[in-house]
Amino acid sequence: MPVAATGTYDDSNIFARILRGEIPSKRVYEDQWAIAFHDINPQAPVHVLVIPRGAYISWADFSALAPDAEIAGFVRAVGAVARQLALEEPGYRLLANAGLDAHQEVPHLHVHLFGGRPLGPMLVR
Ligand code: AMP
Repeated sequence: MPVAATGTYDDSNIFARILRGEIPSKRVYEDQWAIAFHDINPQAPVHVLVIPRGAYISWADFSALAPDAEIAGFVRAVGAVARQLALEEPGYRLLANAGLDAHQEVPHLHVHLFGGRPLGPMLVR
């Protein structure tokens, strides 16, 4: 079910539980600001989710409330994950769903990173 991009953070969401180590994930990266792990239902040969350690529901929430250092740290972490996965040369796609129209399902900010094949047009019409 899609969720709203704003409101009160629910710390029982699945990514909060992954951050706390309560459920497993296949982590590919972690630093002070973010962790990254493989999506459980990959839509491309590489499909990784990068999430901030902080409790933010969506891009809307994060961009309005997070301190500058946290925003910079998260954005740099996304870039570092792409570099670590050797995707800079072939290319990759970033996508962040925010709220109902985008069909965001997990109410903790996440950036999808897709790669590993030509990804085609940006949106299904
Ligand atoms: P979104 O629709 O942008 O909220 O995407 C949520 C993503 O989280 C989907 O691509 C799911 O496949 C993925 N997902 C849900 N549960 C897990 C999990 N336990 N581990 C890894 N990825 C997950």
